[in-house]
Parts: sequence; structure tokens; C-alpha cells
Amino acid sequence: MSVRELDFLAALTEALSPSGYEEAAARVFREHLRPTADTLETSVLGSVHALLKGRQADGLSVLLAGHIDQVGFQVAYISEEGFLNLVPVGDIDPAVLPGKRLEVHTASGLLYGVIGRKPVHIYEYEEEAYPKTIPLHELFLDVGLDGDEARRRIAIGDPVVYGTRFTEFGDGLAYAQAFDDKVGAWLTARVLEEVKAAGGAAGDVWAVGTVQEEICYRGGQTSAYAIDPDLSITLEVGGTQDHPFADKKFGRDFKLGQGPIIARGPNVNPVLFDLLVAAAKKEDVPYQVAAMPFADGTDASVIQLIKGGKPTALVSVPLRYMHTPVEVIDLKDLDRTVQLLTRFILDLDPATDFTPTLANRKERS
Ligand SMILES: [Zn+2]
Repeated sequence: MSVRELDFLAALTEALSPSGYEEAAARVFREHLRPTADTLETSVLGSVHALLKGRQADGLSVLLAGHIDQVGFQVAYISEEGFLNLVPVGDIDPAVLPGKRLEVHTASGLLYGVIGRKPVHIYEYEEEAYPKTIPLHELFLDVGLDGDEARRRIAIGDPVVYGTRFTEFGDGLAYAQAFDDKVGAWLTARVLEEVKAAGGAAGDVWAVGTVQEEICYRGGQTSAYAIDPDLSITLEVGGTQDHPFADKKFGRDFKLGQGPIIARGPNVNPVLFDLLVAAAKKEDVPYQVAAMPFADGTDASVIQLIKGGKPTALVSVPLRYMHTPVEVIDLKDLDRTVQLLTRFILDLDPATDFTPTLANRKERS
């Protein structure tokens, strides 16, 4: 991966973007794609649509969706003493919060705060049971200001994020906030660049950075409706079970560094699934398969249902510790996913019939 590509990934993860506040991440995404895209537009919800025009009138149009929003918080209440109460944006595990530093983004700039809790030795002194998890509404953010100053500088609704800096560590791994799903947005942009470098595709290719995915896939729904593609692939992160205490019996036995995870099940068109596997094999890219007997919590769940229905697929980069301040990926899984998707798009036959029929299955087996 080049320095430019790595810097783009780091900038995406560090750009503020809890659902509904994605403008900073959208700007990073848009500016990176400006030299590549034939057209760039931003929807009224805030999703960014980058188009690479196809060479042929009969080429199939492909929408690649990766969401640029992240989980986080909003300021809900400022106490007399200046402590903040937060409400979650998306699924937050309150167990990861005590002792953390968070960032409050206000109209007048960035403020740091820390999540405090009663010290351990006080619990011991008072012979009280030590609570394992404190619910979010009983936690508070200490921004080091008194009540008057806190209310002067902070507004109800201001966004709050973990603020973790992108860091490479271990053997080719990296941790950051919001690899879910800045990785997906990064992939859509990189595939657009690679397809263009290869001379373009038969059909239009859309790289779309969607908004508000963490609160029910709202940007993906409106963008797919507006673009109305022939097919769509959602690019995501997939939780692994390759760490201690993970239970593999529920499936999801994925590992970092073993290649992208291709989902299989009702949310995935079977012809599209087969073509993605064929592209992986052709490029000699390792891949993992997820059994997904439901519409998973991604943009693919709504894009599949646009208009009369769309052929959809879900390809995910393996990730540890989803929705925590330290999401972990293996960087080599990213380049492999770009390679797989680029091959799929370049090989896409305009005559492909995505209707699931026994004949379709038989021809390809
Ligand atoms: Zn996601």
C-alpha cells in the first residue's frame, strides 16, 4: 500500500463523523476522489457519489457502498458542575468507556474530556460489590470546566467521538477508531482508481460514501434509490472470532490476514456470489465465506430492496473489537479486497442474468 493510500485511510478514520455529522469525513472522501471521478455529487443527506463512466451503453452499472459515518455520542445534558451526560450514536458498549479520553467537537473547536468513575479502592473501603458495567446514563464526561464555562462552550447535541489516532502495530496490523466503516469507503475509492487505471469498465461504476448507516442504513437507501444501479456490492468490516474467549460455535470463524469475507445467504444474490468467488480464485486472493441467513446490519439490507429489487452482495474486511475505540485490521486484507473487486468489475459481462434459477446455477457449476 502506498503512502498516499495509507494517509487516505488514516485521514478517513480520524475525520469526525458520528451519524448525522459526516461532513468532515465526506470532505476527505470527496477530495481524494476528485482526480479520478468523472462526476462528484453530494446527496441532501450528505452521502458522496463518485461516478466513473462506463465505456459501453449496455454495460452493467455497479454501485459500491461504504459508509462514512461512525458510532459515537452526542452531548445530552450539562450538569450544574459542568459534567456532561452523553447519548449513544449507534451501538456502544459502555463497558469500554471508563478511563477513556473522548473528544467533544464544539462550534468553537475541539475539547478533550475524560470518562471518570468511582476509584477501585473506594469500593473496597466501602465493601461494596464492584459493578462490572456501568450504564452510559450513569457515566459522565469531565471536560475540566465549571458549569457556566461548559454551557458557554458546549451546546446540547454537539458530537463526541473516541478520537483514537490511526496507528500501525504488530505484524502489519493497524488500530483506529471507525475502521467500521471507513475501510469500506476507502475500498470503494481504491477500486474506482484501479478500474480507471485498467482503462475503465463496460458499465458505470459508482463509489458511494454513504451516511447514517449506524442508525439504520439511511444514506445507503436514498443513494441506491437515486442512482438506481444494475447491481450493488456493500463493502464493510466483519467481526472476527480470532481472539481469546471468542466462541466459534456461532460461526464467524474469520481471521485477520486471511482475506475478505464474502457473505452468502438471502441478502446476497447467488449469481453475484459465484462471480465474486470466481474473481477471487482468478486473482489467487484468499477469501472467507460467511453464512448469513438474514438481512445483516449493513447497507446491503436496504439496497437489495430498492425499487423492484437489486442483485446485492456483501464483502467485508476482517476486524477485531468492532465499535470500540481500538478496532483492529490487517492492512494486507485491504489490497486483496481491492484486487478481487477490480477483477470482478473488469470481467463483468453485460449479458449476465442475475435471476436465481436452477439453470443459472447449473451453467456455472
Ligand atoms: Zn459498518
